[in-house]
Parts: sequence; structure tokens; C-alpha cells
Amino acid sequence: MGSMTAAASSVLNPVNGDFEAVDGELPTDTLARRLRRRRQMLALAAASHAVNIALLLVFLAAGTVDGTIIAAYAGCAFVSVLIFLAISESGLTDGWRDHFFAAPYTAVTYALLLAFVYIAPNVAVVFLCALFLVANVIALRTSPREGVGAWSVMTGGLALLYFFVDLPLTLPSGNSLERFGTLLTFSMTIARSMFIGIFSSSLRDALFRRRVELEAAYKRIEELAELDELTGSFNRRCIMRLLDDEIIRAQRSNTPCTAALIDLDWFKRINDNFGHPTGDEVLRTFAITIFANIRSIDKFGRYGGEEFLLVLPDTPHDKAVQMLDRLRGIVEALDWSAFSDGLIVTISGGVATLGPNDTPDTLLARADSALYAAKERGRNRIASA
Ligand code: GH3
Ligand code: MG
Ligand code: MG
Repeated sequence: MGSMTAAASSVLNPVNGDFEAVDGELPTDTLARRLRRRRQMLALAAASHAVNIALLLVFLAAGTVDGTIIAAYAGCAFVSVLIFLAISESGLTDGWRDHFFAAPYTAVTYALLLAFVYIAPNVAVVFLCALFLVANVIALRTSPREGVGAWSVMTGGLALLYFFVDLPLTLPSGNSLERFGTLLTFSMTIARSMFIGIFSSSLRDALFRRRVELEAAYKRIEELAELDELTGSFNRRCIMRLLDDEIIRAQRSNTPCTAALIDLDWFKRINDNFGHPTGDEVLRTFAITIFANIRSIDKFGRYGGEEFLLVLPDTPHDKAVQMLDRLRGIVEALDWSAFSDGLIVTISGGVATLGPNDTPDTLLARADSALYAAKERGRNRIASA
């Protein structure tokens, strides 16, 4: 099982690598993917700043704003991106849950934008609109509670500007170029905000696809596994395959083949009265007991829950019934009270022998109705089909 778990988690890691913290060392491909994502995000941030600068240039042409202010904004924006790029490239944040360090980055960007609303109130619309984008980016990676926190902080900062500083915060519309600049500001804000939404849904799609792939991988691992985890007996898939094989062999060699369905009696009550862990222990001990008392050619597997299938090759009906009754007696005679005071475990079995026209399904159906009859007649007994 150990190697299977390792296989499963190595399939799992790509997803964890992008979206969650992982204990210990991260695989190099995950680190590379994280670095690539961070570069992507910082490139988008730089592009967004470039859009702001282009908008400011329109306002420069309209005479709304000074060239020095644009230069100052460009300088601050690109220095901030470069600093975060350096941190990202250093790999410092690789092991963090938020390896994007989105919280400090959005905080710095927010402060920068607010500062420029203060410095250049004439073109505040450019910076105020950009706040929406900061909010969008925050919303990509925060819980509702963190989101409310971020919203409060953002609102607090704006309130300071609006109520405690006497700024002429109006939309530039003095001439047609200013009107164009304002229109362009809104239009580019809508475009960027849509882009962020589309980008995030594409990430989600990728995550969904990974999950589907993972589920398929898990299923495949389960298929490759032959043993039932709890009892160590063959799992259902495997015991069914063995039954098919034995039936084909018996039909070919014209030898008898018998199958028995074994079900633990009153197992629900055992769980209810002694607890589920004790129930599991009972299943395990029962399986070990059966293993210790069957021949090497016999095949024993978990058919489902507390129901097991025993395939007895080369065994005629009466001999099989005898064997089953012996197993029943052994289980009954075990000192189950060692597990828990008052614990009693018995089994019922239904035995069916392969007929000339039997398929695995019809054979199992007869074993199942025999099992039902054994239960009806009071349990702790073997019935034959
Ligand atoms: P009956 O004598 O008619 O077989 O009664 P029963 O209570 O054994 O039958 P039923 O099928 O109603 O209950 C089976 C119970 O087995 C229900 C389920 O919770 C329990 N069970 C199934 N798988 C496991 C398992 O892996 N561990 C434990 N502890 N309980 C299990
Ligand atoms: Mg039962
Ligand atoms: Mg049952």
C-alpha cells in the first residue's frame, strides 16, 4: 500500500503545488510551475500599470496632468514590480501557502494608487478605477472573511481621502480629449476587470480538469490493487475475476466448483453495541481465521461490507457444505469476548455448486438465495442451494 499511496500523492502534488501548502520539500516541477505563475502575474501587473500610464498620457495631452507626475507614477510602479519580481525569483516564498505573496503585493499597490489620488487629484479617476482591479485580484485568492477585511481597509483609505483631505475629486470632462481620457479609463477598467475574471475561470477550469484526471488515476490505482485494505483478503474486483477464472477452468476440465457467500450475523448490532473500530477488528480477525482454515487452492475475498465470497475449486457440493460448516463452527468457537465483553460473532453461509448452464451471475444468485435462507432459518448456519 505504501507505494500506492506514494504514487497517488505524486499524482496529487501538481494540484497541491498550485493551490495549497504542501508539507516538506516541493518537487522541482511544482516549484518551476509556481515560479512561472508568479512571473505571469507580475507581467500582468506591469501591463496594467502600463495601461494606467497610457491613460495618463492622454490626460497629459489634454493638459489635465503634469509630465512629472506620470514619470513619478511610472517610477514607483515599476520599482514595486521589480522588487516583487526579485523576491519571487529568489524563491523565498516558495514554501508559503500564498507563494504569490498577494497580500503584501496588493497592499503596496493599493497604497501606491491612493497616494497618487492624493498627489494628482485631477486624474484621480485613473487611480480610483485601478482600485477595482486591486479588489479583483484580492478576490481571486481570499476567503469571504479576508475579503471583508480587505474591503474595509480599502474603504477606510478612501474615506480618509474623501472626508479628511479637501481634494477636488471630479471626473475630467473640460474638453473633448479629457472626456475621451475619462471614457477610455472606464473602458480599460472594464476590459481589465473582465480579463481577470476570465483568467481566474480558466485557472478553475484547469483545476477541474486536473481533478477529473486525478479521479481517473485513483480509479486506475484501485483497479491495479488486488487486496482489500481492511481485511487483506482479495477485493471484490479480484475475487470476481478469480471466480470467473475458476468457473472457466472447471467447465473446461469438467471438475466441480463451488462458491459460498459468507455474511457476518447481526453485524450492524456489533457496530452499534461495540463501536465501528471493534467491528473492523472483527472483520479482520474473521478474515485471518478463514485464511488459516482454507486450502491454498481456495480463493477468499471481500464481496462487500461484511459479506465475503469463498471460491472452492475442485470441490463437490457436500464437501463444500462440510467445509463451510467447519468454518462456521471455528468462528463461533473463537473467544470474541477478548475483544470486548459480551461480544459474540457468528456467520451464515450460502453454498452453490456450478451446474452445466451456470454463469458466474447465476451461481452467485443461487449462493445468495441460500444465504438468505440461512438467515431466515435463524443465522449461524450454512444453507445449500
Ligand atoms: P444480518 O445478520 O441480517 O446480516 O444483519 P446485519 O446487521 O449483519 O446486516 P446488515 O447488512 O443490515 O448490516 C451490515 C452492517 O455492516 C452495516 C454496515 O454498517 C456494516 N459494515 C459494512 N462494512 C463495514 C466495515 O468495513 N466496517 C465496519 N465496522 N462495519 C461495516
Ligand atoms: Mg450481516
Ligand atoms: Mg450483509
